[in-house]
Amino acid sequence: MSNKRIRKIVIVGGGTAGWMAASAIAHVLKNNYADITLIESQAIGTVGVGEATIPQIVNFQTMLGLDENEFVARTNATFKLGIEFVNWSSQGSRYIHPFGSYGIEMEGIAFHHFWLKQRNLQRAKGARVTPLSDYCLQAVAAKRNLFMRPVQAPNSPLEKIAYAFQFDALLYAQYLREIAESKGVKRIEGRVVDTHLNSENGYIEKLTLDNGQEIDGDLFVDCSGFRGLLIEEALETGYEEWTHWLPCDRAVAVPCESVGDPEPYTRSTAHQAGWQWRIPLQHRIGNGHVFSSPYMSDEEATKILMQNIDGKPLADPRILKFVTGRRRKFWNKNCVAIGLAAGFMEPLESTSIHLAQSAIAKLLAFFPQEEIKPVDVDMFNAMTVTEYEQIRDFLILHYHQTQRTDSDFWNDVRTMEIPNNLTQRMELYRETGRIFRQNDELFTDTSWLAVMDGQELDTSAYHPVVDAMGEDELLARLNNIRDVVMNSADVMPTHRKFIDDNCKASQHAS
Ligand code: FAD
Repeated sequence: MSNKRIRKIVIVGGGTAGWMAASAIAHVLKNNYADITLIESQAIGTVGVGEATIPQIVNFQTMLGLDENEFVARTNATFKLGIEFVNWSSQGSRYIHPFGSYGIEMEGIAFHHFWLKQRNLQRAKGARVTPLSDYCLQAVAAKRNLFMRPVQAPNSPLEKIAYAFQFDALLYAQYLREIAESKGVKRIEGRVVDTHLNSENGYIEKLTLDNGQEIDGDLFVDCSGFRGLLIEEALETGYEEWTHWLPCDRAVAVPCESVGDPEPYTRSTAHQAGWQWRIPLQHRIGNGHVFSSPYMSDEEATKILMQNIDGKPLADPRILKFVTGRRRKFWNKNCVAIGLAAGFMEPLESTSIHLAQSAIAKLLAFFPQEEIKPVDVDMFNAMTVTEYEQIRDFLILHYHQTQRTDSDFWNDVRTMEIPNNLTQRMELYRETGRIFRQNDELFTDTSWLAVMDGQELDTSAYHPVVDAMGEDELLARLNNIRDVVMNSADVMPTHRKFIDDNCKASQHAS
């Protein structure tokens, strides 16, 4: 075994990203391979938001060997089958971006091509168009407030219920802290006030805390939040800003009392200069209004939020400021930035916690055998840039593909120049009905379809092979698929009952 290998890992920050990194690294690097220290400052605190996730988080919990029912109960969590978008395409519009797929592939052709032809036929007859969501179990279950985990049921959509969680961010960090500490992570309470760099190679050598204590390390993980204490303040890595495409730069957040049973989905409601999230947990609802400060004042944004929450507020509204974009390098010298320190895109598709998870997985995959190798660092950075840009383009689609003309904000995002790749994808769908997932990107073709169709990107095209099927057969097969989805939903319990039976929270803190 080499003398040069990483022996001391220092994580700065004890928010969701810091404790996710600590628990996962400690879990994977077993047998005292390295000392892992996490430094956090309660005086500084965490961002305290970040409560909706996407299905990939299930893999993270499984990797850590967590008992899912215990995790749900401990974090006051609920289940999430997708996101409902209200008023995004036009005032009064509504659609769900579900986590599952639509229908099934037929004759080797994606389902939606058959649906597109059916839609043409229904439109031509002046008949009601059967919405895409009728062919997706998650979308149907979300609308009917139903939930269950997948079960063995051959050829049934009940076998493939993808889901995520909505949880209390503070309780989640606490929960992960317990797990990390049980796996040997050492926690130090204190504020980092100085970072010492090696004068020859610029690597971080040690950190000084406010009590004078010095912490040295071989590898530093910067989970210090937006400021990027190590990656930016010490290493001056630089930041690429994307506010010209995603102009929201603030959020005002407030929790409120629950009203009725928690829905198994997050809601995003568009307003004049941004949008509002609604995340139902077991004990409360998380709310926030993401907005663009050049178009709306903090006071107006707060007023809109407070007028549009369902229950009694449980705290004073809190303003958070952010700059959308990414670090120029996520891994720089012996420092890897994870979480908000790495970059930020608004939580429209709940991607931040996933990006932290993905960075941790990549760090473990590229974990240096001996000294840090530039080839590893370059590959890590290139993969992360691609990941960020793909998510960025998906978010831009929501804003750009709108019919809204009721404010300067919507007029500007509707008419702005967008990245070429996104233009091509939109054109491809408009002209041919085709959608392809590119290079293993996070969002599948189902996700792109849900948002393109939901935002009323129209097409009359479909794959030519669909015409080989007679119209009667096409309608019969689509009706059959719809029936299977509806019948499957009929056997699901309500979301509330599933939680009460399996993972009801015992505490109602935070
Ligand atoms: P933080 O929570 O800010 O933690 C930073 C840590 O660093 C703290 O422990 C702090 O004490 C410590 N620290 C900082 N400086 C020092 C210092 N000098 N010395 C010692 N310690 C220090 N993500 C989602 O996936 N889904 C969502 O629904 C979602 N909603 C969001 C809504 C908003 C408005 C915002 C802003 C973000 C949202 N996010 C969401 C992102 C999510 O909140 C973050 O990805 C997640 O909380 C991780 O944050 P973090 O741990 O990187 O940073």
